[in-house]
Amino acid sequence: MLAERFVPRRSRPHDAADDDESLESFAVRRLGREAFENLVQPLAAGIWTADPARLGMAAACPEFFAMERDAGSLWAGERARLAARATADAGDPSRRGDHGTAGARYGQFLTLVDGMESLPVGLAALLRARGVTFVTARATSLARRTTHWRVEGSGDDGPVIHEADAVVVALPSAAAATLVRGEDPALAAELAAIEYAGSAIVSLGFARGDVVHPLDAAGMVVPRREGRRALALSFSSSKFPARAPAAAVLVRVFLGGALDPEVVHLEEAPLVDLARREVEVLIGARGRPRLTHVERWHGAMPQYHVGHVARVGRLSAAVGRHPGLALAGAAYEGVGIPQVIASGRRAAERVVSSAALPRSGVR
Ligand SMILES: Cc1cc2nc3c(=O)[nH]c(=O)nc-3n(C[C@H](O)[C@H](O)[C@H](O)COP(=O)(O)OP(=O)(O)OC[C@H]3O[C@@H](n4cnc5c(N)ncnc54)[C@H](O)[C@@H]3O)c2cc1C
Repeated sequence: MLAERFVPRRSRPHDAADDDESLESFAVRRLGREAFENLVQPLAAGIWTADPARLGMAAACPEFFAMERDAGSLWAGERARLAARATADAGDPSRRGDHGTAGARYGQFLTLVDGMESLPVGLAALLRARGVTFVTARATSLARRTTHWRVEGSGDDGPVIHEADAVVVALPSAAAATLVRGEDPALAAELAAIEYAGSAIVSLGFARGDVVHPLDAAGMVVPRREGRRALALSFSSSKFPARAPAAAVLVRVFLGGALDPEVVHLEEAPLVDLARREVEVLIGARGRPRLTHVERWHGAMPQYHVGHVARVGRLSAAVGRHPGLALAGAAYEGVGIPQVIASGRRAAERVVSSAALPRSGVR
């Protein structure tokens, strides 16, 4: 890895839209196979549940991709970044020391006291209090009429038809494709081409004394070369307060992803057994768990394969031809919750400007 600074930069295509490379190719080329297998691959699996041979640098790791392009190497790029930060700090002394330190940085992990579900539930309550009406239905078609959009769907009480000046389609891209196919088959084809991976999370609660590992970290990622099926473990009771009673610990085992698609279809008992075997080997968790809980996330994680940025460009252009229509969600420009929220804001801005709606609700 120390030789990374001497690795020549890759020649890039003339057209920036075609400039992409898989994470595996980039990491092996710049850092070597051992660093890829021990560091890069497990991080990619833990964050994107992805196959690193297909995950595109331009969408998944744009900062590192740009470092090679702009500075010649990751080493030079990081030096340039640190120098820019030092210059900024010199101009604003109040920023000094505000960049974290070596060691565990638990402050990077945030959650809500009552779980992530309280975010949409709380937002919905806030909006209802402001007079917003919610109709819950599975949308089945979307069609442009002369002056408005018509959305059809099926709700608990039967068919739902809704007419609107503007529509933000914030569904997984395959569902979005189904919705827009009648209106724009080319747009639907681009949407349908984005693949997804599923995962299963098994939460296990143990008596503190039943786990050998001190759990003095937020968790761990597991290199595939170890031959294990866990992608990562999250030490939830170390990461967040009040996630387990005193003298107990809560560990979440992440399984599945693009390279192990079958696991998400296992029955509950074999999934729990599998997770128990993983934690026994990885952190010395022995004895019967006091709590087990299985969550399956079928097809929940979009895969940003090589060429994803170009695809998103084509999608934007295609959607741009439909006034009052926008896409939002994890399929396009970031899978993390902050990026998904940002994509919702951009979509709201877009439909407000393209459908000439009042701006009062967009902040
Ligand atoms: C296991 C796992 C762990 C994660 N951990 C983190 C994390 O720690 N931090 C982080 O920032 N991000 C994390 N993420 C990523 C993040 O949670 C997601 O990317 C994000 O929630 C996606 O939001 P979304 O609104 O785009 O999609 P979704 O949350 O999938 O919402 C799409 C909605 O559309 C609905 N829908 C589908 N079809 C129709 C239809 N025809 N009509 C009406 N509704 C429909 C679905 O039911 C769903 O409710 C994680 C994701 C997973 C799967």
